[in-house]
Amino acid sequence: MLVGIWLFCGLVSSVIATSKGRSGCGWFALGTVLGPFGFGLALIAGPNRTALEEHALKAGDMKMCPHCAELIEPNAVRCKFCGASLEKYLGGTGQDP
Ligand SMILES: [Zn+2]
Repeated sequence: MLVGIWLFCGLVSSVIATSKGRSGCGWFALGTVLGPFGFGLALIAGPNRTALEEHALKAGDMKMCPHCAELIEPNAVRCKFCGASLEKYLGGTGQDP
């Protein structure tokens, strides 16, 4: 019974970690070893911003500003970070060499 709770904590920890762009396998192991404490750690651990951004870029949810390299909405006409106009970048596939 107790083992089931521990495994469940590992599972929940890995789900939380994966949603934050972190290693699901590593956090499953951690959550299984630490039980509810691993679950708590996964909750307070900050998101892995780089991994989340890479995922958003690949999925097409975001695009990178050519001026400041911040991630912005794919159909934005003006960068919200540096204010650069992006209109001339619209219309292309974004994969031109
Ligand atoms: Zn920008």
